Amino acid sequence: MALRRELHRRGLRFRVDTPVLADKRRRVDIVFGPTKVAVFVDGCFWHGCPVHATQPRANSSYWRDKIATNQRRDRDTDRQLEAASWMVIRIWEHDDPIGAASHIEAAVHRRRAELRRPSRQRL
Ligand SMILES: [Zn+2]
Repeated sequence: MALRRELHRRGLRFRVDTPVLADKRRRVDIVFGPTKVAVFVDGCFWHGCPVHATQPRANSSYWRDKIATNQRRDRDTDRQLEAASWMVIRIWEHDDPIGAASHIEAAVHRRRAELRRPSRQRL
């Protein structure tokens, strides 16, 4: 995947497709363990991207329900991760991998700096 390759090129190290919550079925696409940054790359169709929100006409209510269920599950996963002090970043599969990598890199560096100053108050 282009995003993973770009993150790697920038010297970032991470695990892929890894469960970090007690519910092992909720796997995180890209995990930065020490800084607790969880990145998801959401597929446009399955996660209901607002830009590519085209749904198949056949069985449309079936697909609508399925995508709505996925979206509810995504929000719930975000809440669980945030409750366990993870930072959650969601990228759409249509996002430019270079821009996404810059966003992730900045977040990981910010978290790393925060960890070095544990007494500093978080915003
Ligand atoms: Zn999209």
